[in-house]
This record gives sequence, C-alpha cells and structure tokens, in this order.
Amino acid sequence: MIYESTRGISEQTHSADIILQGIADDGGLFVPKSLPKLDRHDLEDMLDMDYSQRAKKILALFLTDYAAEEIELCVARAYDSNKFSSRHVAPIYSLSDNIKLLELWHGPTCAFKDMALQILPHLMSIAIQKKAIKEDIVILVATSGDTGKAALEGFKDVKGTHILVFYPKEGVSLIQERQMNTQEGENVYVVGIEGNFDDAQAGVKAIFADADFNRIMKNSGYRLSSANSINWGRLVPQLIYYISSYLDMIEHGDLNWEESFDVVVPTGNFGNILAAYYTKKMGIPIDRLICASNRNNILTDFISTGTYDSNREFFKTASPSMDILISSNLERLLYELVDRNPAKLSKLMLDLKERGVFKLTKDQLKVLKKDFWSGYADDNETLNTIRAIYDEYNYVLDPHTAVAMKVLLDYRKQIDDNKKTLVISTASPYKFIEDVLKAIGDEDSLDSLDDFEMLYKLSSIAGTDIPDPLRDLKDKKILHTTDVSKKDMDNVLVNIFNLDGVNLCRLQVHR
Ligand SMILES: *Cc1c(COP(=O)(O)O)cnc(C)c1O
Repeated sequence: MIYESTRGISEQTHSADIILQGIADDGGLFVPKSLPKLDRHDLEDMLDMDYSQRAKKILALFLTDYAAEEIELCVARAYDSNKFSSRHVAPIYSLSDNIKLLELWHGPTCAFKDMALQILPHLMSIAIQKKAIKEDIVILVATSGDTGKAALEGFKDVKGTHILVFYPKEGVSLIQERQMNTQEGENVYVVGIEGNFDDAQAGVKAIFADADFNRIMKNSGYRLSSANSINWGRLVPQLIYYISSYLDMIEHGDLNWEESFDVVVPTGNFGNILAAYYTKKMGIPIDRLICASNRNNILTDFISTGTYDSNREFFKTASPSMDILISSNLERLLYELVDRNPAKLSKLMLDLKERGVFKLTKDQLKVLKKDFWSGYADDNETLNTIRAIYDEYNYVLDPHTAVAMKVLLDYRKQIDDNKKTLVISTASPYKFIEDVLKAIGDEDSLDSLDDFEMLYKLSSIAGTDIPDPLRDLKDKKILHTTDVSKKDMDNVLVNIFNLDGVNLCRLQVHR
C-alpha cells in the first residue's frame, strides 16, 4: 500500500517510513492512496477470530511492507492478557437493546489511547530495523491527558527510543497528572506546560517543522518522531476495534448482515471518529457518525454550518481529553471532502493558519452531512447524564463517554431514529473520579476525601473494582517535576539531549 501526503508535495511512500516520520515533510498528514474494501466474504472469514487474529488481518491490509511474522510479533506484544484486563480486549457492554457501549479502556492506562499506543512502539521498533536507522528515535508528544500516559507506558524502555511528553499544567485531572509524573523507565521525560493543550500541540508541531532544529538533532544522533494521532501508526490500530466490534455484534445477534448501525464518538483531535469513518468507507455498514463534543464545540459548529472558526474562547471542562480547538486529524477528512486535491486542502489549512477560520463550499458541506451529525454537552449536562444512566441502568459512565451519551439522546429526540447504536466508551470512570462522584455520589462527603480515597468510594457505590493501575498509583514515587513556559519547549530538548549549536534566541515557538 502506498501513502501520500494531504498537502501533496512529499513523495509517496510505504508504511514503515511514515510510521517513523509521523508528519510529512510538507507539513501534511499521510493517508493511504486508496482504502482497501472488506466484502461479506472477508468479514465472515474474521467472524470466529479473536481480537488479535482480527488485528493481524486488518493491519496486514495497510502495512503491506511488514512481513506477516513482524505484524504477528507486534500484535502479540500489544494485546496480550498482561496488558489488557478483559479477555476480549475491547468488550461490548449492552446497556439496552439499541445502545451498546464499546469499552476501550481495559488497557494499562484505563483510556482508549492504549488501543493504539500499546502497539505503535512495536511497529516503530520494527520500522527502525527495516530501515536500518542509526539515530535514536525521540518521540515528542503533546497530550490533553490520556495520550501522554499511554505513550509513556507504550514506549518505556523500548530500545532505540526516547519519549518526551508535554502536558498542559492546568488542563489534566489529578489522577492523569499523577499517572504521568510517576512514570518509570530509563528513556522517559515528562514536562508540564503553562498553557492549554493547543499550546502544547502547537509547540510540538513547531519543533517538528523546524528544519534547522531537526538537523542539529540528527547531528547529535537523534531523530524526532510523533506518537500523536497525526501518526498513521496511531490511526490504523483504531480501525481494528470498529471492524471487530461490528463482527462481535453480528456474532451476538445484535445485528444481522443486512442491518446498519450508528456510531457515537466523544471527539477531541478527531482521530477516533476518523477511524470509524475509514471503516465505513471500507464497507462496515455504519450509517451515521455522530460527533460528540463538550463545551469546546468547534466541531459541532463546523459539521452543522461548514465553517470552522477557531477564534473562540477555550474552556476547561469535565472531559479534558476533548478540550481541543484545533483538531489535527480533521485534515484527513477534509482531504476527502476536497476530492483529494492537495492544492484545495492547502488553501483551507492556510486560511486556518492565517485567520483561524476556513469554510467548506455548499457541496462539500452536503457531502459531510451525509455521513456526520454533531452535537455537544456542557459540564452540567454531562454530569446529569452520568447520574441518569447510573439511576436507570446501574452503569457508571466516565465524563467523556457521558458527553457521547447525551449527544446520542439529543440526536434521537431530533431525528426519529432508533437504530442500533455503538457508543464509544473512551475511559474508565475511575480516571475522572471527582466529577464522576460528584455526579452520582453524596457531594458533601467528597470534601474530606482525597482522589485516592474517592476511588474506594466509587468502588463501593458502583460495585465495580478499581482498575489495578489506578489503585497502585498512590504509593508510587513522583519522578518528574519539570514545568516550563510554552516558549521554552525546545529548550527542554536542548537540555535533555545536550544539543550543540542551537541558537536559542532563534528558536521561538510560534502558534
Ligand atoms: C483522546 C480522548 C478522546 C478524544 O479522542 P480523539 O481521537 O482525540 O478525538 C476522548 N475521550 C478520551 C477519554 C480520550 O482520552
């Protein structure tokens, strides 16, 4: 399979190259030149398989330059039972006849980022061998909370790699921060940024785009790469669970082969819902892709009006992993909407860069709306939804999944449609303990409890176990305490890797 950049200047290339590179030289994102199709026969073939076997099949369609044994090795290392607490890796919880929850948080960090970040380091490690790369790979990550920890867990002590995570100091939950700051491993670095996620992401992008800086790193024996969802190696493992969960629903008799279903995705950087969109294009009978946002509802507006306007206030919410105003992966969808025309796409991206706004044509908007619907929930609605679902079904949602649930309920009120729906459940409720308890618990008693005591409280109220990685957190030593201003992000690299020849005045991070 050949990949090309959405901006069209870079050469077309193979998956091992693009997984190492992350972002294209021209600043675009890599996409497959064409998507493989799955017919009924292909799907029936996978019906009896478990998650890992399906993963091998699906990855092989995209990573055609990897040998079958190489893919097998990566899958075995990523999705084994030491890593994922549920035998099914991505189990479906049946809330009701027509609402199914796809639980993507049974991995080591209790959020859906594990689904991709447990395998990406192994894909990279094999790419390093295949391409006989001599430099060490330095993974730079900007995180809104969950990616950082998942990337640290995935890359820790992977030979030939270093991982540096930037997180917004004021933008993550206490548990998320503690998960990162206690990270063990010889090759891991965690740094807090004074700013929000978009600042962290803009800083990382600026470092990637700085050719001089990259040359200096290379001279010192390092090569930058990305584990953000702009990296195709992050995105392709996310296709697996949409295809696999469809097969599970067929297998359980929730759906028949002639039936389509809707998907609701709590959305931030647009990676997860884009993976669903790609599987739809491949032949999975998804009818509507429902894009759920929190109060940072730029995508809601975009999908309903065709105008993407980032000139707006940024809000911190109870679903911090979705607190994003620039959704990087939207570029890949836009590329389809402009009929894969790099010049048209580059124009939209230039408008966004220069004025913070871009606009679809009427026809493009029509195409977008055929596949997508959008809505949002504010924090009040989110917490009320956690409460309502708990009261009715005795099931506790995390705030991100609750945003999706609220948007689904709104969708059903507006559009007379009771189609079977897969709600993508992206985090364990234990990870966002304070807001979850506020929603379902007795608020007064919370004042006296710290976050770790709260875990036990939720366990007793909900009757579920605290996930092991969170229960052990309290006793772990804090190992990372560095905070910097967003202008100094590149200096962090200079210090860690002892880079010579960098003119520090020149290196300013631009938004
Ligand atoms: C990252 C994340 C999201 C958003 O996913 P995107 O792929 O960035 O749209 C939603 N919920 C949780 C819990 C997350 O960690």
